[in-house]
Amino acid sequence: MKIIDLFNSKKPVVSFEIFPPKLDTPLDTIFDTLEKFKALGPDYISVTYGAGGSQKDRTIEISSNIKNSYNIESMAHLTCVGHSIEEIDYIVDSLIKNNVKNILALRGDPPADQPDFNFDNNGFKYASELISHIRKRNNDLCIAAAAYLEGHPECLKIKDDMINLKHKTDAGVDFLVTQLFFDNKLFYEFQERAAIVGIKCPVTAGIMPIFSSKIKAMTAKSGCSIPAKLVLMLDKYQDNPDDLLKAGIEYASIQIRDLVDNSVDGIHLYTMNRPKSSAEIIKNCGLL
Ligand SMILES: Cc1cc2nc3c(=O)[nH]c(=O)nc-3n(C[C@H](O)[C@H](O)[C@H](O)COP(=O)(O)OP(=O)(O)OC[C@H]3O[C@@H](n4cnc5c(N)ncnc54)[C@H](O)[C@@H]3O)c2cc1C
Repeated sequence: MKIIDLFNSKKPVVSFEIFPPKLDTPLDTIFDTLEKFKALGPDYISVTYGAGGSQKDRTIEISSNIKNSYNIESMAHLTCVGHSIEEIDYIVDSLIKNNVKNILALRGDPPADQPDFNFDNNGFKYASELISHIRKRNNDLCIAAAAYLEGHPECLKIKDDMINLKHKTDAGVDFLVTQLFFDNKLFYEFQERAAIVGIKCPVTAGIMPIFSSKIKAMTAKSGCSIPAKLVLMLDKYQDNPDDLLKAGIEYASIQIRDLVDNSVDGIHLYTMNRPKSSAEIIKNCGLL
């Protein structure tokens, strides 16, 4: 099934994002986690793509398992950084052969050890080129893309990033998934700007519950701001991880309830492979 058909039939579409276990960890460690996620009845589960394709086989295998063994719709993330066009075609064909019809098509980040990385040497320089290529080869796939409420960190002007996003959606995107955010005002403002440039596809809100105080370092890199009330919360519980986890679950639940009240198209939970916390949030928000 194409995930876009879900957006056309229900609101909100509830999804979970998981990441494959590291290469030195057996693949089947993820299956116990998946059983627990399945019990929560998500509309689909997405599987991240390791930086530069380092774990591409795992992304293909896990997304295939989610679809074919767990009977849950799955979406494979795919980044084009460092890949030739032939490699991209091979990966997309492998997904299709495994019955995975949904792809989150991304450019990806430059390798951490190559600050002067030249995207011109890639098969595709931007996600929009990847999307246009996949769309031309396979009109039957559902393609999602990433959106940045505060602008992508490499783009100096938020307005330019929005125009680039419009080009990306025009290339053949079915729906957008946002980067994580902690202030719903940013989401509502983004919706307004997107409407002004003519973006009409569904936008699913990416929510990451705070699991640890490391969130400050993570968000600093991605350009996602932390509101003052969250800074206070992180400071208050910095020596008490259990209470920080509880407060993080409550914060995410409040954010989601507000988004649902405001008719959000979808909620995409960055689960960090933690079914227990995800279950609490889903229950708090009445999304079970
Ligand atoms: C929901 C979500 C899931 C993600 N999953 C993964 C994952 O699984 N694995 C992973 O490695 N990374 C993942 N990422 C991170 C992502 O790969 C990085 O943020 C990356 O830097 C940008 O990818 P993109 O697809 O958004 O790029 P693009 O849409 O190509 O944008 C990249 C930059 O180029 C600019 N740009 C675009 N088009 C043009 C143009 N024509 N001219 C000039 N500038 C242009 C944009 O404004 C932006 O600054 C994810 C991000 C999100 C939000």
